[in-house]
Amino acid sequence: MKVAIVGGGVLGTMHAWHAVRRGHEVVHLERETEARGASVRNFGLVWVSGRAAGPELATALRARELWERIGAEVPGVGFRANGSMTLVRTEAEWAVAETAAARPDAAERGWRLLDAEAVRSVNPALRGEFLGGLHCARDGAVESRVALPALRAALEPSGRYRWVPGREARDVREGAVRDDTGEVHGADHVVLATGAALGGLVRELAGPLPLRRVWLQMAQTAPLGEPLSTSVADADSFRYYPAYEPASLAEHQPQPPVAAEHKMQLLMVQRLDGGLTIGDTHAYAEPFPFDEVEAPYDHLTEVASALLGRPLPRIERRWNGVYAQCLDPAAVAYHATVTPGVRLVTGPGGRGMTCSPAIAEQTAEELSW
Ligand SMILES: Cc1cc2nc3c(=O)[nH]c(=O)nc-3n(C[C@H](O)[C@H](O)[C@H](O)COP(=O)(O)OP(=O)(O)OC[C@H]3O[C@@H](n4cnc5c(N)ncnc54)[C@H](O)[C@@H]3O)c2cc1C
Repeated sequence: MKVAIVGGGVLGTMHAWHAVRRGHEVVHLERETEARGASVRNFGLVWVSGRAAGPELATALRARELWERIGAEVPGVGFRANGSMTLVRTEAEWAVAETAAARPDAAERGWRLLDAEAVRSVNPALRGEFLGGLHCARDGAVESRVALPALRAALEPSGRYRWVPGREARDVREGAVRDDTGEVHGADHVVLATGAALGGLVRELAGPLPLRRVWLQMAQTAPLGEPLSTSVADADSFRYYPAYEPASLAEHQPQPPVAAEHKMQLLMVQRLDGGLTIGDTHAYAEPFPFDEVEAPYDHLTEVASALLGRPLPRIERRWNGVYAQCLDPAAVAYHATVTPGVRLVTGPGGRGMTCSPAIAEQTAEELSW
């Protein structure tokens, strides 16, 4: 079978992975000269911990298994099973963590509630003031900036994979994709993994979609100078992830004004070069800003320094990113046949890096690849 994939982000690349592995021939188009969307701007967190029970958790757990397997085959993706620690600093935060740790599926998520001393024995770089932490052994991380080229390089020796960067798909129909050089790529199946590009070709084919776009701010620091052995979250993450409902932090503890205004949490993951990726903010109203706002970085620096018990290393890079998210919170991603032979897969929201191997596997199974 011939498969044409449009979009060189993680969803497109994971579709290519599954198609090639199943023996098919893949042509993979990306309009930029290298992927530059959400998939290279994210934390690289393979984040199981806060997922809603049911299909979302099942998808994340399956994806975590696939990432580990792929990471063993392709060391360049930088997969590590480093786990995460969500630190709690107040009694109200401790109460939410305690409720979470008592969930019937806590063991499946790899959750354990630890006091401050136990937190430090798992992650000695956390020398700040806190009561304890919710440790999630299932969480992992990958290196987003290099994972996609590494996956593509692993597909090349098959002789069935053709990466075509710098080409925008302009006309997509059953059996063919025409790019902006006029080349026509014949295919039995076409997958559009076009990310947050909801206008243009996607709107022509699919009309208005039940998706929204979300804009986030991120940063990366100089090397920490020591290992941060788990990824780290602050307790503001209890406000956003469904697994912590209905124990609501909002009723008991107002969020700091900057964090509330920018819908923030602290997430922090160490890159393989020792630097820390920190974020994030969330904005939903378009048009999105074209510049980064400084106040959220001041807040992230203050919280991260307090948890580390030392000044955060200097921020060396700042950027923003946009992802597409399904309006239906129960949908893990948007899958639809938009015209015969053409499948659109997008909208995994803030869990797309985590879930992509399993989302693409679902397409492969549904299309009998
Ligand atoms: C700042 C930030 C942090 C995040 N952190 C995490 C995290 O830590 N863990 C997690 O699980 N998820 C995270 N996410 C979410 C995750 O990054 C996304 O859900 C995921 O990357 C979406 O992948 P994608 O392939 O659908 O989109 P993209 O990566 O945006 O890729 C789509 C690609 O399609 C191309 N394209 C579009 N139209 C065409 C066309 N007509 N022809 C050719 N090419 C086209 C685009 O150029 C783009 O490269 C984060 C997102 C952001 C923005």
